Amino acid sequence: MNRRLFLQRITSFLLALGVPAGLLGAKRAAASAKHEKGSDKPWYGMTVDVDKCIGCARCMDACKTENDVPREPFYFRTWVERYIITRDNEVEIQSIGTLTNPASEAVTEKEILRSFFVPKLCNQCAHPPCVQVCPVGATFQTEDGVVLVDDERCIGCRYCIQACPYGARYLHPEKNVADKCTFCYHRISKGLLPACVEVCPTQTRVFGDTRSQASPLTRTRHMSKIHVLKPHLNTEPKVYYANLDGEVK
Ligand code: SF4
Ligand code: SF4
Repeated sequence: MNRRLFLQRITSFLLALGVPAGLLGAKRAAASAKHEKGSDKPWYGMTVDVDKCIGCARCMDACKTENDVPREPFYFRTWVERYIITRDNEVEIQSIGTLTNPASEAVTEKEILRSFFVPKLCNQCAHPPCVQVCPVGATFQTEDGVVLVDDERCIGCRYCIQACPYGARYLHPEKNVADKCTFCYHRISKGLLPACVEVCPTQTRVFGDTRSQASPLTRTRHMSKIHVLKPHLNTEPKVYYANLDGEVK
């Protein structure tokens, strides 16, 4: 019996006994909270300037290539939404490249008051609900604040997919494990930028260490009015949006 199968069986057994999923994953979550405070490690984040995004989707394409994300349009680690505000104050949201809301196509240019693009990805929450619910500790937070999935441990139970309030996770159809943005951890560990940041032609995305005064990310955060998505959930996202319209959820 391999390790993954063993974990899958022992977890099913414990859940059947009524042990809450959150408790099984609590040890790693507590360790993460400790790392967050008073550490001299980097604490990575990203800014996204909505005014700069032109909806070219190069970030989505680069991410798929870099991270072996299935090419089908409904699997992605990062995606770009087009918000359309009509003259009647209706809000239409179209996912670039996936057309998840074909109704948007019906909106004519004349009806559009304004429109803009919003790139989205895992928010690398400082307090990530996905980590708290994982029953086997497969989803965890690194010392530098990046939430990752250990493919060897993940049993594909989808708890984290349901717990993520940002829809940032999917189940990888071939590996049968939860998958999501890692800030290209394999690249940033070597001092490189995430693939989406590197290819963006308009510098919409800025990546860096939130604790470093010298990082371009800190400069961007100081120079712009910054918002995070769903702040009322207290997940403390580390993806910070500049020039974010109040209509964006
Ligand atoms: Fe987890 Fe979702 Fe937060 Fe990413 S955005 S850390 S997947 S809860
Ligand atoms: Fe927007 Fe940059 Fe992505 Fe193009 S590459 S869609 S400009 S974030």
